[in-house]
Amino acid sequence: MTTETIESFSELGLSENILKALTEMGFTKPSPIQAQGIPAVMQGSDVIGQAQTGTGKTAAFGIPVLERIDITSNAVQALVLCPTRELAVQVSEEIGRLAKFQRGIKIEAIYGGDSIDRQIRSLKKGVHIVVGTPGRVMDHMERKTLKFDEVRMMVLDEADEMLDMGFREDIESILADMPEDRQTILFSATMSKPIMSITKRFLNDPILIKVVRNELTNVNIEQVYFEVKPQAKVEVMTRLIDMHHLKSLLVFCNTKRKVDEIVEDLQLRGYASEGIHGDLRQQQRSNVMSKFKAGVTTILVATDVAARGIDVSGLDGVINYDIPLDEEYYVHRIGRTGRAGMSGKAFSLVARDEKYRLKTIEGYTKVKIEKGVIPSYEDIVGVRKARFVESISVSIQEGDDQELFGDVLEMLQHAGYSTEQVVGAMAKQIMGVQKNEYGDSNLAWEERRGDAGRSGGDRFERRPSSGGRFERGNDRREGERRGADRYAPKGDFRRPEGVRDENRKPASVEAGMTRLFLSLGRKDHIMPKDIVGAIAGEANIPGKTIGAIDIYDKFTFVDVPERDARAVLRAMDGNTIKGKPVQIDIAK
Ligand code: ADP
Ligand code: MG
Repeated sequence: MTTETIESFSELGLSENILKALTEMGFTKPSPIQAQGIPAVMQGSDVIGQAQTGTGKTAAFGIPVLERIDITSNAVQALVLCPTRELAVQVSEEIGRLAKFQRGIKIEAIYGGDSIDRQIRSLKKGVHIVVGTPGRVMDHMERKTLKFDEVRMMVLDEADEMLDMGFREDIESILADMPEDRQTILFSATMSKPIMSITKRFLNDPILIKVVRNELTNVNIEQVYFEVKPQAKVEVMTRLIDMHHLKSLLVFCNTKRKVDEIVEDLQLRGYASEGIHGDLRQQQRSNVMSKFKAGVTTILVATDVAARGIDVSGLDGVINYDIPLDEEYYVHRIGRTGRAGMSGKAFSLVARDEKYRLKTIEGYTKVKIEKGVIPSYEDIVGVRKARFVESISVSIQEGDDQELFGDVLEMLQHAGYSTEQVVGAMAKQIMGVQKNEYGDSNLAWEERRGDAGRSGGDRFERRPSSGGRFERGNDRREGERRGADRYAPKGDFRRPEGVRDENRKPASVEAGMTRLFLSLGRKDHIMPKDIVGAIAGEANIPGKTIGAIDIYDKFTFVDVPERDARAVLRAMDGNTIKGKPVQIDIAK
């Protein structure tokens, strides 16, 4: 029997009670992860299951767990760990529905933020299945209010998210405390190195079940990419939001820090947005999610793993603020829109050094992503105007309380303004159109001649001032002694040769310059031109103002004008150079 031929749950050898519950829940056909996962878990093997969000992983382990509970015992026989309180509640409820016709099965959700005394009282009455968050489960273990001597099955649900939230140590100590002969099951939407290392340590000859690339081709998602300079990404994003009238969307980015930055940027521009990532406390998470679900917030910015556990539907679109490092993440991201037969938009903002990743994704998904044209400032003003006129007309037709404000025009006319001036100024204010800060021509990067073949051309050729090509400075000998390659720009910013100290501290910095530390070095194959290109491009400062660059094996020092240091830190931190993530800081 191959899994493709499984058309109903009855082929999986489940008990009548479960089948009845499934019928009542409206589950007619097992999903692929269920068709493969249920038999594997039922036969008692350790299992690693990988499938995208929303593919029914809960029932894939929930059903076999229920099938193996011995009602005549009062002991905890299965423990399910979930990353968040919402998920713990969702999972325990889903298992509860599956158990509807199995009399006497007791399931308890155990999570932080809920009264521990109440939890202790229900645990005392006897519970068969505990669904909990790692922190609170540890808490109960320490208080000895939870005993695991009879546990036969241990499930790690949404393992990648649990690790992202920093539960690794808790998970490991819980696993270490479980009876040796238990069965261990791990479900996750993605597999990472830390997950693999946990499975190696704690799983016994596991069966690996992987269901990916789910239904990507037959959903109705419009996939478009835009070639955007990194510093113009928020601008382009808001233009796309305006242009397409996106009222509920998820914005994805690769780092937690970026989430916070984007949210701040969007809020400053007047967009109702909030962020979600692994560092938020439970309470903050719930707040963010309920505001988004209620439509108070229209834009949710998230990292890949944080978005995993959240259950949102009816999104107008997904924006990839940056391109994910893993092709599967792309599939997960855009799969959040265009559900249930509705159409959705997936826009990807692609910086120059992300272009190759986009190509990899196209190769992987076998779907062509179209290149889009960034809406012009005029387009945006036009769209906003049309919506403004519409809302004013509605407001006039509704007509309430307007007599109270009718004399505003008169007052302004009295001050010497014409009706046109007044309306124009008010319209601009209300429409909230930003200044065309970047211009229209400065948003996209241009394909350079030979861009395809060469790895990063020489940006400095086009600079009018002759300096700019970076060469090894005269203090090369000294650089070698210290293990650094040192590059100093020709011309005004060449650093005077100075006394350098031995212990890798940066030498004294030229007046007006700030020395920055970068976490990339020779081992990352970066060249001075990569650094200059990245800093100049991202922070929008002229390349020729960047001073000396000292490249060591594992890190680099670079001098930038003091007044630009903040901007460089902001633009570069968590960003990439030649596709490699970089941390940047003021050198100590
Ligand atoms: P995951 O954990 O993979 O993200 P869930 O287990 O939360 O997915 O399931 C997502 C939704 O699909 C839930 O509402 C669940 O009730 C429903 N579901 C699960 N399996 C089936 C099925 N075989 N048929 C129909 N709906 C299902
Ligand atoms: Mg799940």
